[in-house]
Amino acid sequence: MTFKTREGLIKEYIKFFRAKSHKEIPSSSLIPTDDPTVLFTTAGMHPLIPFILGQKHPLGKKLVGVQKCIRTGDIEEVGDEVHLTFFEMLGNWSLGDYWKKEAIEMSFEFLTKILKIPINNLTVSCFEGDKDAEKDKEAAKVWESLGIPKERIFFLPKKDNWWDPAGETGPCGPDTEMFYWTGKGKPQNLTTGDNKENWVEIWNDVFMQYNKDEKGKYNLARQKNVDTGMGVERTLAVLNGMKSIYETSTFAPIIKEIEKISKKKNLTDNKSARIVADHIKASAFIITDGITPSNVGRGYVLRRLIRKAIRHGYLLGIKENFTTKLVDSIISIYPDYKELKQNRNQILAELDKEEKRFNETLEKGLKIFNELTKQKTKEISGKEAFLLFQSYGFPIEMTQELAKENKIKVNMKEFEEESKKHQELSRTASAGTFKSGLSDNSEKTTKLHTATHMLDEALRIILKDKNIKQKGSNITPERLRYDFNFPRKLTDDELKQTEKLINQKIKESLKIKREEMPLKEAVKSAGHLPGAKYPEVVSVYTIEDKKDKRGFFSKEICAGPHVNNTSELKNFKIILEESVAAGIRRIKAIVE
Ligand code: ATP
Ligand code: MG
Repeated sequence: MTFKTREGLIKEYIKFFRAKSHKEIPSSSLIPTDDPTVLFTTAGMHPLIPFILGQKHPLGKKLVGVQKCIRTGDIEEVGDEVHLTFFEMLGNWSLGDYWKKEAIEMSFEFLTKILKIPINNLTVSCFEGDKDAEKDKEAAKVWESLGIPKERIFFLPKKDNWWDPAGETGPCGPDTEMFYWTGKGKPQNLTTGDNKENWVEIWNDVFMQYNKDEKGKYNLARQKNVDTGMGVERTLAVLNGMKSIYETSTFAPIIKEIEKISKKKNLTDNKSARIVADHIKASAFIITDGITPSNVGRGYVLRRLIRKAIRHGYLLGIKENFTTKLVDSIISIYPDYKELKQNRNQILAELDKEEKRFNETLEKGLKIFNELTKQKTKEISGKEAFLLFQSYGFPIEMTQELAKENKIKVNMKEFEEESKKHQELSRTASAGTFKSGLSDNSEKTTKLHTATHMLDEALRIILKDKNIKQKGSNITPERLRYDFNFPRKLTDDELKQTEKLINQKIKESLKIKREEMPLKEAVKSAGHLPGAKYPEVVSVYTIEDKKDKRGFFSKEICAGPHVNNTSELKNFKIILEESVAAGIRRIKAIVE
């Protein structure tokens, strides 16, 4: 049956929700454009954050799509039956439209009518309630009315059935999760011990009905949204009666290639082979979206994935460079992600470079590690872990993994101190604790968002260079960071003039207008960022300016949010100008 293949499942899902008047949105990049609090897109809702917060989506209130995701928090789980670093998430969304009843009814219909899953193989969980929010009887009642027996509806606490904002504040609420029983015999209770692993979570409907404020209080939200997420790989596995995601068509060709290279058979259940397949697939997608291996941020995650895969290739007995040999099998699985094929050469080049670099030191590093553990049986010191990182290129997570295999510890506190001293690793990358969720959409970040648009235009004017384009942007509540193409350092005078122009436009109290229009039309009037992916209908932000002969100071395709008037910015100040790469400058600035 067609829905049992990757293409078929995605097609059926989109078709089902389109027939229920949802509009299809394309998969966004793995690199979130507007959310500095996370490294990668971790869920389908991620690109929708501004709309979840109440902004009108150009395609309406009901959306459907499939989103590529990376979860760095799951890297250590990879190798089990159900957790991947890279996976695809199907989702349908209600932005202030339908609520629990309709959402659950649609989930149920899709599971039982389209995917034909027998009710006996389904179990659901709902939020049990606590001091912050009431028990989700509403959701449970809907399930019951659809024929899910009471004893198959479980109430679980916040840690299982609640979706919280990643930052301190924002929309949140209870969820209801759908599980498929994969065990033998009669389905057992979801909550009792060992049985839990026989229940595979395939789908999650999140009901964002609260808003968490600065005091940690949960207030009822003004706009209630539904956000759902169904894992493509997991659903395929259970539909095909497979034990793990590695048996599905999303992995089989890669595992086959690993078997060929390692001259080993039956590697589907081999942990190292699983790690190699998952990590190189994730790396190929990350490289495609513009990241290269490095020691900070996203580049560090990529480096970690490639190097871990290489070590596990080594454990499989592979002696030659192998990562590039897997690329064509990965591309063959995803003909619909055209960018993957288009970036084939880039993927091959980056993998090859990183593998060669790491292979120069891997064997020596392993030797050093063995010596260290021979001398001492309890703990690797922070200094030693740092030496392995700096001289042998061992990501700290790899040293931790090796230590764990040898049943010893790594002194992480000391390692952190050591790396801080050397400022080699960014704190965020080493902590690796990026959660999914909302950015801090405080007033400050909204202002900085608008300031970024103003800076972009001001630079073209002051530097008299029409070809200046954004090459990167990142906003935290403290500052904006803006990268652009320009061949030389900016003079003090140029920086001052840029500041002055922006502050003048702030004083002029220019209005900011938001319009929705078809992408084609938007590109004509506002231009666009090469390489960025946009939906068919986009929003365009215009900073109106009657003095300008175009009638505006700045016009850009952007998801927002922005302030309503430039006067809200008060004062703009550049705090740094530097080079980040050949021909690329960086400016950091603040508003007061
Ligand atoms: P789990 O508790 O099993 O890790 P989760 O609660 O983290 O799952 P959600 O955040 O609700 O999962 O994500 C929605 C859906 O995405 C899940 O129901 C599952 O099908 C899929 N999913 C989540 N994490 C992964 C992963 N690491 N690999 C593959 N699929 C995943
Ligand atoms: Mg999880």
